[in-house]
Amino acid sequence: MLRIDGIFNLNNYDKSAYCDSITGLPDRSYLYRAFRQISSDNRLAEHNISVAFMLIEFDKYKYINDVFVGHRYVEEFSRLSFGLLKECVGGLGLVFSFTGNEFIIIAPHAYGDERPVAVLAESIIDRMRNYAKISSYEISSTANIGISLFPKHSGDIDELLEFADMALYEAKTGGENTYSFYSHELGLYMRKKADVFLSLKKAIDNNELYLEYQPQFDLKCSSITGIEALMRWKSRKLGNVPPSDFIPIAEETGYIMELGRWLIGNAFDMCCRCCKRGLSLTVSLNISPIQLQDKNLLDLIRFNLKKHGIPPSFIKFEITESQAIISNKKNIGMLNEIADLGIGIIIDDFGTGYSSLNYIAQFPIEGVKIDRSFISMLEKNSKMEAVIDAIIHLSRILGISVTAEGVETREQFEKLKRMSCDKVQGFYIGRPMTAEGLEKIIL
Ligand code: C2E
Ligand code: CA
Ligand code: CA
Repeated sequence: MLRIDGIFNLNNYDKSAYCDSITGLPDRSYLYRAFRQISSDNRLAEHNISVAFMLIEFDKYKYINDVFVGHRYVEEFSRLSFGLLKECVGGLGLVFSFTGNEFIIIAPHAYGDERPVAVLAESIIDRMRNYAKISSYEISSTANIGISLFPKHSGDIDELLEFADMALYEAKTGGENTYSFYSHELGLYMRKKADVFLSLKKAIDNNELYLEYQPQFDLKCSSITGIEALMRWKSRKLGNVPPSDFIPIAEETGYIMELGRWLIGNAFDMCCRCCKRGLSLTVSLNISPIQLQDKNLLDLIRFNLKKHGIPPSFIKFEITESQAIISNKKNIGMLNEIADLGIGIIIDDFGTGYSSLNYIAQFPIEGVKIDRSFISMLEKNSKMEAVIDAIIHLSRILGISVTAEGVETREQFEKLKRMSCDKVQGFYIGRPMTAEGLEKIIL
């Protein structure tokens, strides 16, 4: 790492007029000014110097000497964190206050050698994790850091900040106390994500969404007794986008609430159309854990049950097991209320999640759906047969149903039948198809 004062003369740093009026810390306007000075300095190219932009976000901080509330707490924390960062950085860079809990460090280093920047990032995270002592105060916090590089990534400060922000976002998805460098691949991915999100927001209004249905076959009565509704998006701008590309983005942005409302309206309508034709088919819907936080969900379900006049027992909600669901008591309450309405709750992708058995014990579930990865190993791995057998036995004892998903071959189908699995779903029975395609095979 290079000493910044050995390279640039930024004398009036602390005395600068470019300081936040409340915290007194050098702020964004000073950062712009310092960057102008640094980036126009010829010695940067002469000595092969790169400058790292480190965007640091502190989160969940604890302050243990005193109890401060409201703004004063935030200001105090800003001042203390700033002090700590200055201490960590020493003469190796400059620290600027960005927002209450965000800071920027600019740190020069030899072009192409980012190790010192990584070491600095690690030292900041470590200091904050273990109750840093500053003056007479002790604070601790989780920290995430996103880093972009001048001139490698850009020569424009706004772009460098935007890239550091993308890297910070990437770091946060990797968990607490992590740092990440911007890369052009990350930039492309984030832009694609933004594109998908912008188009997705218009998908409902533009009528670009539709449902496909995949049959579920009951092995006891040898007939199709249900269908799973799977969302499809034919975007005018992006073409066919698979759910694995847009559902995670919808979940991340909260837009899944809108999609979920659309799904409930349309899948309940399909159920009603089947009933009117005398077909007693259950309709399974994939419900995202985030949707369970929608306060209006129960009203929406009640409204649609009434509007379409369908028996609640014809509707199944498939929920993928995730830690997010079980750690939130409100979710368990919501699932209980949904089950009380008469809708069956099925645990999807059963076996792959965090705590399958915990789920069975805590949730009002009607059945489990064994994940496709288990079924695909059924013929290759004899232990897998024992695992599936155990799941089927356990389900019998608990009085819940078992569906096997991803059944692709006759051998898998026959084996699952011998093992007394209740239902199967997969390409062997039928691929997801449009409502018209479904009519052809069922009627
Ligand atoms: P999932 O709920 O596990 O859905 C089953 C996926 O496996 C579907 O992919 C289906 O096309 C595919 N599949 C079915 N049978 C077979 C088989 O025999 N072999 C193989 N290799 N694949 C099979 P799809 O439609 O691409 O959906 C992927 C995931 O997207 C779904 O996984 C579900 O988690 C999510 N998803 C789809 N529609 C919705 C929706 O309306 N709402 C929400 N929240 N999620 C949805
Ligand atoms: Ca599913
Ligand atoms: Ca599944």
